[in-house]
Amino acid sequence: MEVRGCVTPKICLREVRKQYPARGVAEATTALADMSLDIFQGEFVCIVGPSGCGKSTVLNMIAGLVEPTGGAITLDGEPVLAPGAERGVVFQDYALFPWKTVRENVEFGLRYRSKGRVPKPERERRVQHYLDLVGLGGVGRKYPHELSGGMRQRCALARALANDPQVLLMDEPLAALDAQTRLVLQEELLRIWGEEKSPEERRTVVFITHGIDEAVFLADRVVVMTRHPGRIKNVLSVDLPRPRGGAVRTASRFQTLCDEIWQMIRDDAYAAVADG
Ligand code: ADP
Repeated sequence: MEVRGCVTPKICLREVRKQYPARGVAEATTALADMSLDIFQGEFVCIVGPSGCGKSTVLNMIAGLVEPTGGAITLDGEPVLAPGAERGVVFQDYALFPWKTVRENVEFGLRYRSKGRVPKPERERRVQHYLDLVGLGGVGRKYPHELSGGMRQRCALARALANDPQVLLMDEPLAALDAQTRLVLQEELLRIWGEEKSPEERRTVVFITHGIDEAVFLADRVVVMTRHPGRIKNVLSVDLPRPRGGAVRTASRFQTLCDEIWQMIRDDAYAAVADG
């Protein structure tokens, strides 16, 4: 168990297990075995590992979308039993409403969560603020199909942020983007996360990726997972200075950390590819 002074973890996983039951010809799968992890307020934690090691399962359990088979997950000391507005989720496939404009997509969560309590002018102000923050200030009237993949993902991020969640859960949000757009959005994400709030109020981010360099660039700590069953192999602190810009990627320490992680998951990654 990690201890940081006497600070209560924001998110705490204790011996969390997940078994998906057998269905038809498919056997039961132990997606996750006895995972324990403390994540602290304002931390940016990346979970990295090969396909099938249980990354999405962990994230969905923290989101309250999937129920653990055993163990406990708490948020600020309270059990996670269902989704909640204090946890915003961003998925790989944008999950935007195609029939709504960018502005309406961002407003959607706000409008329904607040049940009309936030007056329209304040709602509009907040939506504009988050659109500006993610660099979409000028395209609020467009529809998702009129946007590039990178812009759609910016929109999904703005929608999650508009609810002002304390925790941002991101499941491979940049995986569908081309390599250059991914690099740009990694830097943008760090800028938004680092500048939007003071350190005392900074959002806690759990970010799933299979990209080792992405994890090292973004994270305070990288949780390295292996599969069959999914479990934590190691947790690395990323001792690269912040704020981080593109130049960090050329630092020898950056490369060393990437190599260390690759050595940890290399055999598993080969096996995952062989399994298809
Ligand atoms: P990752 O995100 O690392 O690729 P997942 O959490 O998606 O891993 O999956 C972990 C394991 O659990 C895999 O073997 C996967 O096939 C299995 N799994 C995931 N979701 C389900 C489900 N709903 N039903 C049955 N098995 C599942």
